[in-house]
Amino acid sequence: MADVLVAAEHRRGALRDVTYEAITAGRELADARGGDLHVAVVGGDVEGFAEDVNREGVDAIHAVDDGEEFDHNAYQAAVSTLADRIDASAVVLPNSVNGLDYAPALAEDLGVPVVTDAVGIEYDDGLTVTREMYGSKVETTVDVAGDRFVLTVRGGEWPPAEGVGDATVEAADVDIPESGARVTGFEEVGGGDVDIADADVLVSVGRGIEEEENLELVEELADALGATLSASRPIVDNGWLPKNRQVGQSGKVVTPDVYIAVGISGAVQHVAGMKGSDTIIAINTDPNAPIFDIADYGIVGDLFDVVPELIDEFA
Ligand SMILES: Cc1cc2nc3c(=O)[nH]c(=O)nc-3n(C[C@H](O)[C@H](O)[C@H](O)COP(=O)(O)OP(=O)(O)OC[C@H]3O[C@@H](n4cnc5c(N)ncnc54)[C@H](O)[C@@H]3O)c2cc1C
Repeated sequence: MADVLVAAEHRRGALRDVTYEAITAGRELADARGGDLHVAVVGGDVEGFAEDVNREGVDAIHAVDDGEEFDHNAYQAAVSTLADRIDASAVVLPNSVNGLDYAPALAEDLGVPVVTDAVGIEYDDGLTVTREMYGSKVETTVDVAGDRFVLTVRGGEWPPAEGVGDATVEAADVDIPESGARVTGFEEVGGGDVDIADADVLVSVGRGIEEEENLELVEELADALGATLSASRPIVDNGWLPKNRQVGQSGKVVTPDVYIAVGISGAVQHVAGMKGSDTIIAINTDPNAPIFDIADYGIVGDLFDVVPELIDEFA
């Protein structure tokens, strides 16, 4: 009993990046225990998703054709049935709204502990999980009792699984109970279909922008770069941008190729959401702003001077 099961996550017809990261974490666990790595795809375009998750290191894929979007009942029933069927030692889920929705119920079904929001794992004789607390100010380690568990992994902490694998794909037959809550529709919160977590380049604006009407300037920069606009929390709290644009502990975790922080100080709660970006560029008047501690490139300057120059350069 050393196999590991990862449950894929998708939304509106596309797999979420954290799925591939969870596959990497799952592979790490399976390697440590000498087991196989299984991936479950539940609902949506199961055939397409099965192809997408067939990355290097995946041994078997189980496709459960039920519904279009995430559904608590379907995921709980499908993943716990599959975990039992393959006798999985560990089930790995993204630490997302969806993953957290059913991870405890799944652990209860399987009679195993659940550890959420892992940012690191080590497996020796047992599992030790690294977690962060108090807005990433404190790191804790958790020794997990027993050798079977459910684990949710934070986005942006593991590299995405790559390459093309040669996993077997099986259409899995699972009984999904009709009782309880079922998803009947999908309504996006304000801000349209933009998912900042999917963007390759983010221009992120903070309180340094001073006034709502100045947002036009950073929007112009985002347009010039073909980037997506995101923000720190004060911008969202002021109602200047919708909540789905917020990066950070109480917003979204993003891992773009390039993250440009404009007038953002780099508070721990903000950094928790963007530190996994490949290249971080910061523009700030304060040379001591903490954002410069994690920036790859920094411009100490007034954004009202620097941003127009960048727009001229890239437009
Ligand atoms: C429980 C909890 C959860 C939180 N969750 C989040 C979260 O998810 N995301 C988040 O972002 N925050 C979050 N916060 C808030 C966080 O603590 C900070 O208050 C917030 O990130 C600060 O946003 P900011 O950097 O835009 O503003 P500030 O900290 O005010 O920084 C503004 C920066 O702009 C610079 N600046 C000013 N004028 C200019 C100029 N003309 N040109 C260039 N630079 C200039 C300043 O030097 C300063 O560094 C949370 C807080 C708590 C307590």
